Amino acid sequence: AITMRAVNKYYGAFHALVDIDLTVERGERVVICGPSGSGKSTLIRTINQLEAIQSGQIVVDGIALSGGDNVAKVRQEVGMVFQSFNLFPHMTVLENCMLAPMKSRKIPRAEAKATARQYLDRVKIPEQADKYPAQLSGGQQQRVAIARALCMKPRIMLFDEPTSALDPEMVKEVLDTMIDLAREGMTMLCVTHEMEFARAVADRVIFMDKGVIVEENPPEAFFGNPQNERLQNFLGQIA
Ligand code: ATP
Ligand code: MG
Repeated sequence: AITMRAVNKYYGAFHALVDIDLTVERGERVVICGPSGSGKSTLIRTINQLEAIQSGQIVVDGIALSGGDNVAKVRQEVGMVFQSFNLFPHMTVLENCMLAPMKSRKIPRAEAKATARQYLDRVKIPEQADKYPAQLSGGQQQRVAIARALCMKPRIMLFDEPTSALDPEMVKEVLDTMIDLAREGMTMLCVTHEMEFARAVADRVIFMDKGVIVEENPPEAFFGNPQNERLQNFLGQIA
């Protein structure tokens, strides 16, 4: 589970997250959407402390984030997938998936390799294992990024617009991978504007604007009966 209480984040004088209260229970799937600059990436990045907060409290699976050792602990529990796939270009797909388990979990090489093959199979690209990232399509690269995160056996997965850099024909294969993961019960917090995904698997959808959580509802109510005017406008634009 993730718990954020009265979290505030500033970039200098700019107030990027304003009194954020958010809970994601174990096994829950939550989608965050909202206009550009509303603080979606910032929110997600505070959870594994890629961004420091100035006040409030974040607890991830019972571990309070207060700097020091807990940062490393939390990062082991939390997998993250970005818009830009961030694969290591000089390593094969398999090596990309083996690196973190070997380095930070001290998993033996043979076991790391077996786990990597297992997850490449799960994301349906086992045949790409020995290629380099540049030899793959964008959709394939993003599925490698998901497999790589899963190889750390995380309890929570964070996604930040994982499909927004992809050509339209590749969006579906990545969304299908995410939908599979959601149906297997993974705890997920996803920034995405893919409403197909939100409708298919989200327990709750959150709308952010100007650093504030403006509205939060199950998908039926969120899309079917939006209350806030800014959300109504936003849904009108992306539909
Ligand atoms: P997008 O949909 O474009 O990805 P977002 O909702 O993810 O937007 P954030 O990236 O979280 O928005 O940014 C929120 C606000 O904080 C923006 O106004 C942005 O300019 C500002 N911001 C983000 N990162 C920094 C930084 N490192 N330094 C200063 N300001 C920043
Ligand atoms: Mg963003």
